[in-house]
Amino acid sequence: MHEVWIIAEVLEGKVKDVSFELLSRGRALSDTLHVRLGTVVLGHHIEPAELQKLIRYGSDVVYAVEDKRLVSFTCERYAKVLGHLLTEYTPQIVIAGATTMGRTLMPYVAVKAHAGLTADCTELDIEEGTENLLQTRPAIGGNIMATIKTPHHRPQMATVRPRSARPLAPDQKRKGTVVQVAFDPAWDDKRVEVLGLRKPDDEQTSIEEADVVVSGGRGLKKRDNFVIVEELAKQLGAQVGASRDAVDRGWARYPHQVGLSGKTISPRLYLALGISGAVQHLAGIKTAGCIVAINSDEGANLLNIADFAIVGDLFVIVPEIMRRLGQRSKS
Ligand SMILES: Cc1cc2nc3c(=O)[nH]c(=O)nc-3n(C[C@H](O)[C@H](O)[C@H](O)COP(=O)(O)OP(=O)(O)OC[C@H]3O[C@@H](n4cnc5c(N)ncnc54)[C@H](O)[C@@H]3O)c2cc1C
Repeated sequence: MHEVWIIAEVLEGKVKDVSFELLSRGRALSDTLHVRLGTVVLGHHIEPAELQKLIRYGSDVVYAVEDKRLVSFTCERYAKVLGHLLTEYTPQIVIAGATTMGRTLMPYVAVKAHAGLTADCTELDIEEGTENLLQTRPAIGGNIMATIKTPHHRPQMATVRPRSARPLAPDQKRKGTVVQVAFDPAWDDKRVEVLGLRKPDDEQTSIEEADVVVSGGRGLKKRDNFVIVEELAKQLGAQVGASRDAVDRGWARYPHQVGLSGKTISPRLYLALGISGAVQHLAGIKTAGCIVAINSDEGANLLNIADFAIVGDLFVIVPEIMRRLGQRSKS
């Protein structure tokens, strides 16, 4: 039976969070199809405990290829390895994160494998009857959700937005197999050499990685008032987010935009100030832990989905919250 695969990502020997989100997606698909879930992991000196972690989070089998030439992601080399694994093991579905690595590697491999690829999916499912992979993603600038399938080619390939799914709870008793695949020197590609790695600029990653995000919307009324959002964020050690409306007005820069055409985030705590909760905004906070919304309109959509809905004027409520936080930090 052809397996479902996810492509894990590793940094400095440790499996990155996106891999566990993919495992939760992959587990749902493989359970529906009654097939095994495989994880491909490429790198160098990956800690054995990390490979076991992939099993505890849902994988049945882990295909690990380790070599010093795989220490950093290079598209050509990784594509050769993955291409070999696809031919050898013929999975029916392969999903990767819509990350820098996934967005670069998957199209390259899909072309070589004569397979289709749907980028940046927000939902994946299995079609009843045909067992085709249903790959759903925003289309036409986010105005519609398009569901795409690839009935005539295998594997079916997709990248999935990071933080659009929660990892499963780890199962300490889960058993699986680790298959170590030896690196074949023929997979080397000497045209590319990694000279060093630079950490991404904070702005690009901050709201996606943040534990707490404070966002502001049109309810702030003008740029000068947006300082309230920045100050509250500073007091909470949070990152600043914004609705598209606030970004379009120039109150915050695009890397701070939360939502369908901005970032998908998964903070433990999300505070939304003066944001109505349009579907496109909500698409970016589906996996947020606790949502606190402050809005003067009790009918605002965001108040309906918030864990703590505060109805009132943000210009009164936020200074009061900041005053109390200040008092607490003094005591
Ligand atoms: C293709 C497409 C993609 C999009 N992508 C995104 C996206 O990625 N992210 C995104 O956010 N939007 C996106 N949008 C836009 C989205 O549809 C909304 O227009 C936008 O989210 C509205 O922003 P807002 O909530 O700040 O403004 P509004 O909808 O105008 O809401 C302002 C809110 O502030 C409240 N308010 C006013 N004064 C106060 C006050 N004194 N105190 C408290 N509350 C107050 C109001 O009651 C209101 O609810 C997209 C739209 C399209 C068509």
